[in-house]
Amino acid sequence: MRYRGREVGGEGRVQLIMESTLTARDRVGVQDFVLLENYTSEAAFIENLRRRFKENLIYTYIGSVLVSVNPYKHLEIYSKAHMERYRGVSFYEISPHIYAVSDNTYRALRTERKDQCILISGESGAGKTEASKKILQYYSTTCPISDNMSTLRDRLLQSTPVLEAFGNAKTLKNDNSSRFGKYMDVKFDFRGALIGGHILNYLLEKTRVVHQNHGERNFHIFYQLLEGAEPDLLTKLCLERNALKYQYLVKGCCSRVSSINDKNDWKTVRKALEITGFHEEEVEDLLNVIASVLHLGNLQFGEGEDGETEITTEPQHNYLSKLLGVDGADLKDALTHKKLTAKGEEMISPLNFEQAVAARDALAKAVYGRTFTWLVAKINQSLAFKDDMHNSSKGSSSVIGLLDIYGFEVFQHNSFEQFCINYCNEKLQQLFIELTLKSEQEDYESEGISWEPVKYFDNKIICDLVEEKHKGFISILDEECVRPGQPSDISFLEKLEDTLGGHAHFVTHKLSSGKTRKAVGREEFRLLHYAGEVNYTVSGFLDKNNDLLYRNLKEVICQSDSQILRQCFQREEVTDQKRPETAATQFKNSLAKLMDILMSKEPSYVRCIKPNDAKQPGRFDEALVRHQVKYLGLMENLRVRRAGFAYRRHYQAFLQRYKSLCPSTWPNWQGPLADGVATLVQHLGYTPEEYKLGRTKIFIRYPKTLFTTEDALEA
Ligand code: ATP
Ligand code: MG
Repeated sequence: MRYRGREVGGEGRVQLIMESTLTARDRVGVQDFVLLENYTSEAAFIENLRRRFKENLIYTYIGSVLVSVNPYKHLEIYSKAHMERYRGVSFYEISPHIYAVSDNTYRALRTERKDQCILISGESGAGKTEASKKILQYYSTTCPISDNMSTLRDRLLQSTPVLEAFGNAKTLKNDNSSRFGKYMDVKFDFRGALIGGHILNYLLEKTRVVHQNHGERNFHIFYQLLEGAEPDLLTKLCLERNALKYQYLVKGCCSRVSSINDKNDWKTVRKALEITGFHEEEVEDLLNVIASVLHLGNLQFGEGEDGETEITTEPQHNYLSKLLGVDGADLKDALTHKKLTAKGEEMISPLNFEQAVAARDALAKAVYGRTFTWLVAKINQSLAFKDDMHNSSKGSSSVIGLLDIYGFEVFQHNSFEQFCINYCNEKLQQLFIELTLKSEQEDYESEGISWEPVKYFDNKIICDLVEEKHKGFISILDEECVRPGQPSDISFLEKLEDTLGGHAHFVTHKLSSGKTRKAVGREEFRLLHYAGEVNYTVSGFLDKNNDLLYRNLKEVICQSDSQILRQCFQREEVTDQKRPETAATQFKNSLAKLMDILMSKEPSYVRCIKPNDAKQPGRFDEALVRHQVKYLGLMENLRVRRAGFAYRRHYQAFLQRYKSLCPSTWPNWQGPLADGVATLVQHLGYTPEEYKLGRTKIFIRYPKTLFTTEDALEA
């Protein structure tokens, strides 16, 4: 049995560990696609994924990119012992794992002293959120932590169930689908100790609060509260333990889900709220808001004797004013009237039935959406790096950013929300393309190795179509939202046709001749995304983009007794005459900022793949996987990685691993590293055709060269 030394946790302590961590089972197929003989064959790529998946080997590399296939079952590969195995060990010495990416990123942070980020992508249900949780668990468990921050570990971990309860929901694609984007900075001090975290949240899918498609649910928290809350609490919130009683919970005809235990999850969330530092009064306040959303949904309108719209459900109205902490009469007025300012004068005008329903739903969405943002802010306070406690490390902290957003999704009906989600994925794909190709090219250039560029599909054309100034999709949408006259979703569609008609990635019913296979409805448009074609129903785009909440409703909520609502709805907003930014523009701007954040860091990638649409273990649907491999650009990724050389390694790492194979380099090579590697490979009989020596790395052309060397180690 062979032994080798390794450094543990970068602290200079040397420990002897067993060498052979790769078992025969780990070697099913190739664990790095760059070692595939037939690396241009998509069939060989998929076969390798499939063979490994069948053996529960869900992770495979393309160089340093981790490809992960969702197993849809619990695997015994995430224990503390597993974490220990990956600490301080290089990628190539151990089977692929999300912990290897976590550890490598951490070590890069420490040695290169540059902020890192891990970008997790893949379609809805592919396993992004699970991957990000595993990474966070890895850091919380294996990284040192300052004495005075001892509860930080728990606070970091427990922030997840809180945000998932309020921001995730069951969809047709995923029983725990993220309905918001999450970017989390995990912060470390100069010694590599965990010192805090910070979360940025992106566009919560608020529409879900008032409407769910068939087979989908509202956000988890509503069901958890109804199932799990003690009877006293329900009474206090004027709620019944029956989700079917609440209009906002019955739209999808799916209040129970076999894979979800709302009652247990309630306990987890209550505990998590406590650990993350929410005071009892804050939790009470929070639950009042959640309950008031449910009561809002049950508020009904009818026509009064004077012909004006009025509230016909008095009890719900009473619960509401109690839970929202507002004056009942004011609330009633604000839900049935709107305040307009015309020629400097204020006028009150009654709402018709549809308008009153829309105002009610707008209030529910605004209250829930802003409470979610409040929740993130509270969690950030709890995870904040207390500068004064760490004066010694001031200015030298560094971060690993984790990006877990909603995945690309296509439903039967797609609306504004899917448009935003898919646009976001488009941006991330662009970042991946730019950074992988760029960094590869830079690697060859800086090492002085000539290379040949690889052709790939650049989705910049689609990003431009959406976001270009003046003539992009969002600009047209915004313009139509403020146009005087009677703008409508249909007039917006016509504007789109006028402006984007000639674009190769935009199709409507009128324009559809020959561009695509499937039909486009008269009230639809189609975008040809990098990940596939999506038909969007134009209905609702203007309203959702305007995201309008009448001023008098805001005024009432501003005066609420609830601390949360008073923080979420501030006076200035009511008095401010400036038109707020539209939802799409806000999203576009926040994504642009996110791209800047990510570009300033050293990226690592996890590419998640969904093996089947049935959410079942053991099923590998080749056609589905092939589609994802294609649009994720994995074949191009591999080709770029292999452009010329299958494998590269820093001299030091290469020597360390193989020095025992040559008497001149064993046990230690004393001279320059490059000379040591040259001596070693000459001894191993590498031909000049098989390798090149760069400035700091050796590049090996064929996988079989490496296999032979690896086999020599085992012999
Ligand atoms: P969305 O874009 O909808 O948020 P997602 O990519 O975040 O999707 P996840 O929620 O991470 O998808 O995964 C969906 C489900 O798949 C999980 O709830 C879990 O049941 C299963 N799953 C994902 N990854 C793993 C894993 N590594 N081990 C076991 N089960 C997993
Ligand atoms: Mg998710």
